[in-house]
Amino acid sequence: MMLDIIKLLPDSVANQIAAGEVIQRPASAVKELMENALDAGATQIDLVVKDAGKSMIMVVDNGCGMSETDARLCFERHATSKISKAEDLFAIRTMGFRGEALASIAAIAQVELKTRRREDEVGVKVVNEGSVVKEQTLVPMQPGTSFTVKNLFFNVPARRNFLKSAQAEMRHIVEEFTRVTLMNPEIGFTLTSDGKEVYHLYPGNLKQRIVGLFGSAYEERLLPVRQETDRVSIEGYIVKAEYAKKTRGEQYFFVNKRFIKHAYLHHAIENAFMEMVPQDSFPGYFLNIEVDPADIDINIHPTKTEVNFLDVKLVYAILHAAVRKAIGQHNLSPMIDFAESAELNNDFSTAMGMSQPLAIPNIPLDPNFNPFRKEQTPREPHYEGGYQHQRQEPSGDWRLLYGERTDLPTEDAKEAKPNCQYLQVNQSYIVTTVKSGLLVIDQHLAHARVLFEKFQKEMENHSGTSQQELFPQALTLNANDASLLKEMMPELENLGFDLEQANPTTFMINGTPSDAAGSDAVALLEKILDNYKLNRTDLQIDRKLNLAKTMASQLSIMPLTKLTEMEMQKLVDQLFACNVAEVAPNGKKIYIIVSIDDLAAKLNQ
Ligand code: ADP
Ligand code: MG
Repeated sequence: MMLDIIKLLPDSVANQIAAGEVIQRPASAVKELMENALDAGATQIDLVVKDAGKSMIMVVDNGCGMSETDARLCFERHATSKISKAEDLFAIRTMGFRGEALASIAAIAQVELKTRRREDEVGVKVVNEGSVVKEQTLVPMQPGTSFTVKNLFFNVPARRNFLKSAQAEMRHIVEEFTRVTLMNPEIGFTLTSDGKEVYHLYPGNLKQRIVGLFGSAYEERLLPVRQETDRVSIEGYIVKAEYAKKTRGEQYFFVNKRFIKHAYLHHAIENAFMEMVPQDSFPGYFLNIEVDPADIDINIHPTKTEVNFLDVKLVYAILHAAVRKAIGQHNLSPMIDFAESAELNNDFSTAMGMSQPLAIPNIPLDPNFNPFRKEQTPREPHYEGGYQHQRQEPSGDWRLLYGERTDLPTEDAKEAKPNCQYLQVNQSYIVTTVKSGLLVIDQHLAHARVLFEKFQKEMENHSGTSQQELFPQALTLNANDASLLKEMMPELENLGFDLEQANPTTFMINGTPSDAAGSDAVALLEKILDNYKLNRTDLQIDRKLNLAKTMASQLSIMPLTKLTEMEMQKLVDQLFACNVAEVAPNGKKIYIIVSIDDLAAKLNQ
């Protein structure tokens, strides 16, 4: 006799299995409950947890509340007030959207719901344990809703045992709390853990919210980012490059206020920081992208934090430009006279095929004012790897930097500069006076910045000049390195290397970049190869940046090198003609200004 072997699972088991998808740990329940409170229009949301949420999670809101019927119904699978037709799924902007969260939580925990609508006299209390309604009574209460979730996974021991340490689970909870609260700064939140208030966030703006979450030090560290086009708008803050962290921490990226992970777009941001943040550090950011929901495809899975864009390249380009702009404005800031304004050449939006022009970055300085340059060649915007860098005019306002001297006519500035005295300290630092005090420049870092920008430009314009070697040297490599060198050949040639492959593993160095004159070409190429291997990437833009970085650090004037006054003058001149004069390609500060006040304070100590 044949036995039927297929059995239908009892509902309770089916519910538990489905619940596992939505609720993996206490933090998932926290997220769902907080998002529901937001959807209910609450202006104050309080989260209380015990034992990292393992024994209790409570979310109290002052939102719209539920009727008595809804209070029972909300625990049913696919019970939702948010979707009635399939199309709604795509237009939905609220957070949870499948009516599954509460059903899932109730399947694996003991849930007590208290809720009252403003228009009702009393509230209702519903107790649901393992999907079974255990109690329903009327209770006096303020309008709003509170969900108390006790003993998560009480009936799924395997899951319960799978939970991590209280510390780890609490970290997940704080992370979810952070994501939700960041994008809702106009709403007040608190988080209390085992009787201690961990966060008390007052309603405010995004900056205040970041400061509330991460500490008052962030007041100084944030740079605003804002970019609007008709398809995409980006708003938020980045953390100044000098505060980049050694661990990948404060990286918050949202689409329509929903936290997502997106490696490609994350790269757009990191890339914009590239030359500013040291290799082993991670830039911080808090950015929200608003797009038409029709332009994205959110993976309709409640725990997935993924989203696909119809035109991800466009978003990449806009995001990259927005972050660059923010960094650029910051780097221009400390010494700039904000009284004047200049229109920067910005053909970005037309280049990107957008009908609406992008907002022109408002960087108020006089781009034509540079007393130490004889001629001003306007820089054209240009393409690289599918998007455009925004070019900024030389930073620093020379009038503020050099005080009185700048009323000299531009033509005479060079000749007049002997007035300006440069001292070299410890054969490593260049010191000169500026209006506000003493300017102290690290010569090695300054030169690295100058060369870095020069090499980048040369690679773009194929304009590196070459110095022919009288006696070409041979560079012999292993087969692997030889093929890497071949990969890099076009860029090396643009920089002024003249290499000829003599046999599969030997290259003749017929010429070197003029800037490398007098240095050991073989050692330089070996260093370039080493760094190339370390930072190997498929992206051409990164390859170029890495190459420029290596060359710049290898060929820049070293500390403990004596410089003449003319050399110092020229270096300072070139430094302040750079796009970014403040930070070396390795992320270090190039100069400091010791203000007269600082000096006075030191002297009067
Ligand atoms: P969804 O949020 O996808 O609709 P949920 O299971 O999270 O599904 O919630 C089911 C329904 O319960 C919601 O649609 C809403 O009508 C109601 N609800 C849940 N939480 C609250 C709350 N805090 N305040 C008011 N109504 C709520
Ligand atoms: Mg929900």
